[in-house]
Amino acid sequence: MLKVLKFGGSSLADARQFAKVKSIVEADPARRVVIVSAPGKRFSGDHKITDLLYLCAAHIKYGVSCEDIFAMIRDRYNEIIAECGLHISLDKEFDALWDKMKNGISQDELASRGEYFSARLMAEYLGYEFVDAARWIKFKFDGTVDQDASYEALRSLAEDRRVVIPGFYGVMPDGHIRTFSRGGSDITGALAAAALGADVYENWTDVSGILMADPRIVDDPEPIRRVTYSELRELSYIGAQVLHEGTIFPVREKNIPLNIRNTNAPDHPGTMIMESIGDEMEEGGFITGIAGKKGFSIITIAKTGMSSEPGSLLKILNVLAKHEVNVEYLPSGIDNVSLVVSSDKVSRSLYEMLGELQKEVQPNKITVTEHIAIVAAVGRKMAYRPGVSGKIFAKLGENGVNIRMITQGPEELNIIVGVEEKDFEQAIRVLYNSFVKENVV
Ligand code: ASP
Repeated sequence: MLKVLKFGGSSLADARQFAKVKSIVEADPARRVVIVSAPGKRFSGDHKITDLLYLCAAHIKYGVSCEDIFAMIRDRYNEIIAECGLHISLDKEFDALWDKMKNGISQDELASRGEYFSARLMAEYLGYEFVDAARWIKFKFDGTVDQDASYEALRSLAEDRRVVIPGFYGVMPDGHIRTFSRGGSDITGALAAAALGADVYENWTDVSGILMADPRIVDDPEPIRRVTYSELRELSYIGAQVLHEGTIFPVREKNIPLNIRNTNAPDHPGTMIMESIGDEMEEGGFITGIAGKKGFSIITIAKTGMSSEPGSLLKILNVLAKHEVNVEYLPSGIDNVSLVVSSDKVSRSLYEMLGELQKEVQPNKITVTEHIAIVAAVGRKMAYRPGVSGKIFAKLGENGVNIRMITQGPEELNIIVGVEEKDFEQAIRVLYNSFVKENVV
């Protein structure tokens, strides 16, 4: 049994958090591979180490001294060393880094040191071996990860060992350090889990899993207990942000479940993300989660006989593609089609686009509805179940939410409604209170 664990910045913010990590790792002998972020904020208003490192890089770029910021970074690590009682000194490495900063260091290399030092300390604290990410995460020149080469390298470095690995970075073919985009330690963890064929990838953070709805809109939403990778994709596409978007692919590809856990509440089971969920594990209602986003427009094109005119949809989509506008949803009728698009994307070229649509399709009418929000109720248990959408629309109607658009994916994994932006929060609350809180199954 092998569990690969990744701890986020808040789980490593100070010695107290380091101690929590240690007791989590020691609680289970299968927890042999640990990936760490750089120390995050200890309290609101505090600074993340990675932010401070980027700040140093910006100072260097403009020729301004960053001595004070660098001292702050150094102090944070030294405090952890002292309070955890570690017998290790990073002084020499910090001095060498400072010299390198004076003589020219890339932003990526500097930013990566947050994770590097964090992993050095955690390895010492746990009594695990330190394995540098630069020794196995291999980027190609196009910036993507060479998965086969990386997996093979990690297998020879870490197979059957207890190791700590810094997240967030790897190495380019020419030996330069390259980081992922922000939050990228999640990806390092996923790659390590995939490379080593882990039984589970535990992603430890500061919430007890993915919440069923946005806590800024719904009071105290419950965490999702189990969710499939496909459901999660639906939820994150429409606004729920939990993991770095590059995280899912490597673990899903190898059929490895991903468990989101809370370092500050280690007994909570968190959210388990899996390819499929057996009936015996099912519990709770038919909605797995609710997500949504504002900022959409609906362009509706009406033309008598449109559906029997081959190629008309193609002409419409070509115009949008030319303006680099992505169509999010495409509900259609016999004589009309609606294109749900992000308002941001169309605002620059809306009139030009409408002119071209008029010319290409010669419709009877084109209307544009702005200030639309999309709300999605996602749930694998909704599939092929009669009556679910009826219940959802009825509840929204009863509560005064005017539905401007309805659509459902072919897999029946979600029901998506377009509402006016002013009704957005209300729509999410109605769905949550009526179906999740009441535990309607
Ligand atoms: N430390 C990096 C960041 O703040 C990467 C990570 O934490 O995942 O973005």
